[in-house]
Amino acid sequence: MDFSELDLSPEVLQAISDAGYTNPTPIQQQAIPQVKRERDVLGCAQTGTGKTASFVLPMIDMLAAGRSRVRMPRSLILEPTRELATQVADSFERYGKYHRLSMALLIGGESFVDQERKLDRGVDVLIATPGRLLDLYGRGKIILSDAHILVIDEADRMLDMGFIPDVERIVGLLPKNRQTLFFSATMPAEIRRLADAFLTDPVEIAVAPPASPAATVEQSLAVVAPREKREALRRLIRREDVKNALIFCNRKRDVDILYKSLTRHGFDAAALHGDMPQHKRTETLERFKNGEVRLLVASDVAARGLDIKGMSHVFCFDVPVHAEDYVHRIGRTGRAGLAGRSFMLAAPEDGKAVAAIVKLIGKEIPLIAIDGIAPAELEYEERRRRLRTAKRGVVSHVADKGASSGRKNADETRRARPIRSPAGPQAPAQKPEDRGNVMPFPRASQTRRPRQPEREVEDDRKVVGFGDHLPAFLARAPRVAVRP
Ligand code: AMP
Repeated sequence: MDFSELDLSPEVLQAISDAGYTNPTPIQQQAIPQVKRERDVLGCAQTGTGKTASFVLPMIDMLAAGRSRVRMPRSLILEPTRELATQVADSFERYGKYHRLSMALLIGGESFVDQERKLDRGVDVLIATPGRLLDLYGRGKIILSDAHILVIDEADRMLDMGFIPDVERIVGLLPKNRQTLFFSATMPAEIRRLADAFLTDPVEIAVAPPASPAATVEQSLAVVAPREKREALRRLIRREDVKNALIFCNRKRDVDILYKSLTRHGFDAAALHGDMPQHKRTETLERFKNGEVRLLVASDVAARGLDIKGMSHVFCFDVPVHAEDYVHRIGRTGRAGLAGRSFMLAAPEDGKAVAAIVKLIGKEIPLIAIDGIAPAELEYEERRRRLRTAKRGVVSHVADKGASSGRKNADETRRARPIRSPAGPQAPAQKPEDRGNVMPFPRASQTRRPRQPEREVEDDRKVVGFGDHLPAFLARAPRVAVRP
């Protein structure tokens, strides 16, 4: 299919051609005609599928007619993170360059004054994160009763981050006779419930995750002891021809620790995570995009959906807790048909998480050895069970066996060897690359449970005092000294 078959204006078609796109992606083919027909859309699609353009392109044409009024945006796009909001704003600029639409980006960490000034002039498109939008609404700076197009993007991520009450409040401020476009990478029951509440007779569109990462990303996995991970990473970076790389950690504090460690070892690195002030996040990202800094250590939330051209490498310093984050992480490289390489460092206890990833991507990840680093073995058993065994006194036997098999396998792992899930060679229901791009729309019951609130926030909660741990000496009755 060609873009010209999608009933887009010549200006938009020209901007698409300037961007170098020739054919619409599956989500664009399906969503654009429905959006133009003013239908509500429930889209099950991830970043990387071209979903941003699937709503931005038709919106540009739809908003071309009509005028914005002071403080009354004509459309609203909600994004979970500042980076995603900024990217959507960039898309509006890129595809709307032959139109005269006005746009405001309301994201935390930026000056209220500039944002208010824009709103005062009237905007056609308002792109916002929920918190900042409600802040400005509370100050009486926005009236949402004229926003007749609403886009809720990355709804499952909003759920993860605890934004759903804010989103519900915002939706309540919009007119009932609006068009709603609702996108989510997954459809757990809670997201389904929201979709039912927000959408009227929606067209349901589901596309497969972005073409399997296998196609353009050469993936590798190294299993090493936790204390060796930093050294292993340094060796990998030195041995690879890294033009620019994202390095993912699971927790914000580890982002900082790793960034400092890399810098201390003379690497050209920067850090990006959700606790940094917005101006610092924007500046860091710019420096990385411009090639001023080569390595960006980041958390999943900060780096999700980042579209950085020609990234040569992705390193997963930690195995992601949720398998689908692996796909998001490595999908930052190998974009637009360019080759990319990814490396994941796993500790032995990450066995189950690695197996879940292998199952999800439907592909074994070749295991590599790193010169100078002793390879370890993945363990699939629950840690708790191992500890229980340890208490029964069996541990030394198990440990010895593990250690010797680890040594034996050290040589074997020098040959690239695939990782299999513990149940043997996994046979996922369907490999992503076999599925084609269009999928049956998932029912809530077929999808995973909603995640716990964003672990980035959760994990970094400060422990006060002893936390949950009561030291034994405090529980003991005080000894009374008896004098002779
Ligand atoms: P998204 O899923 O919206 O994050 O888009 C992922 C990437 O695909 C972005 O770099 C877009 O610029 C790019 N893209 C969007 N539409 C197309 C298309 N029709 N052909 C090629 N690339 C596209």
